[in-house]
Amino acid sequence: MENKNYKLATQLIHAGVEPDPTTGAIMTPIYQTSTYVQEAPGVHKGYEYARTQNPTRTVLQNALAAIEKGKHGLSFGSGLAATDAVMKILNPGDEVISTNDLYGGTYRIFTKVFARYGLKFHFTGMADASAIEPLINAQTKMIWVETPTNPLLNIIDIEACAAIARKHNLLLVVDNTFASPYLQNPLDLGADIVLHSATKYLGGHSDVVHGALIVKDDELHEQLKFIQNSCGAVPGPHDCWLVLRGIKTLHVRMQRHCENGEKIAHYLRQHPKVDKVYWVGFEDHPNHAIAKKQMRGFGGMISFTLKDDSLEAANRVLSGTHLFSLAESLGGVESLIGHPASMTHGSIPREERIKNGLADSLIRLSVGIEDVDDLIEDLAQAIG
Ligand SMILES: *Cc1c(COP(=O)(O)O)cnc(C)c1O
Repeated sequence: MENKNYKLATQLIHAGVEPDPTTGAIMTPIYQTSTYVQEAPGVHKGYEYARTQNPTRTVLQNALAAIEKGKHGLSFGSGLAATDAVMKILNPGDEVISTNDLYGGTYRIFTKVFARYGLKFHFTGMADASAIEPLINAQTKMIWVETPTNPLLNIIDIEACAAIARKHNLLLVVDNTFASPYLQNPLDLGADIVLHSATKYLGGHSDVVHGALIVKDDELHEQLKFIQNSCGAVPGPHDCWLVLRGIKTLHVRMQRHCENGEKIAHYLRQHPKVDKVYWVGFEDHPNHAIAKKQMRGFGGMISFTLKDDSLEAANRVLSGTHLFSLAESLGGVESLIGHPASMTHGSIPREERIKNGLADSLIRLSVGIEDVDDLIEDLAQAIG
């Protein structure tokens, strides 16, 4: 699609997608092939071997670039495979400054894998971006941001981080999984690399594991594409097709995630048995002003604690819901409920977890797009 001036809803459905050149099929075919026949040595149609290029993946990568306001998209077998590729453009001795309430898998690949290869990681709370600069030294190469964060929904000011990155000649990476391009476009705010676990909102139906990187800069794209091909963590064409299909409804799904999220956040806040409710849309959220500045809505991710802050009380709610399924992950059309203390953050020692604000009774919701009255009724009977 040539015209870049279309609005997001139109881009989500059409960007990067052309009728299949051989048949006119309106939907991108799944090119389930490992190689491509050449007319003569070196004479081919731009496709040589499917780790390097696949037409289904090309369409998805172009769509990803368009919807994140970038120039180039790259697809990977998972969100963490995309993270792995970003780390591999660094060299031993390089340092990364990262937010301290990262997705657990990102923290693990940093500290348990790449720390062994000589990269050094600093973790700090970035809700106040002034915490970043004191950690910068001659070896620092990258700032890694995730916003909103998981599960406490802290907000980090992307523009402020971008200003610091520019001043010190560092790359700014933003994991935009929680917001999705419907709510936030980090490249427009000065980021260099946007990362997605497309497993979540982009795929949107809990049926695929996929990762993506989007950049504007040609040279950075060449570096990352080289890693994608050299290290080979590429997705299969069927998975690319599922993500393409998911993207087409991102705007209608996100609109409903936001509406349902807002109603449920307010319902929980007035519930006598609920203590704290974490949701980006509350005006008294510590960084609500920044959220309003950089996001177009507040999403369907909510966490809350109970006045009875015990594991038993949390367990009663977690096993009492019928529509909210007890599961890790997020961003699908169906509502999920999770318990960070025993699930996603179970490997963190209790003392450290509580110090970081993850109470025993903290419950995380990924609010789906079901009828919100049914969802509230489900929570009501589970909380009691
Ligand atoms: C799930 C997730 C990831 C990792 O993605 P996978 O597709 O599971 O590898 C990274 N960042 C965030 C914020 C996530 O929620």
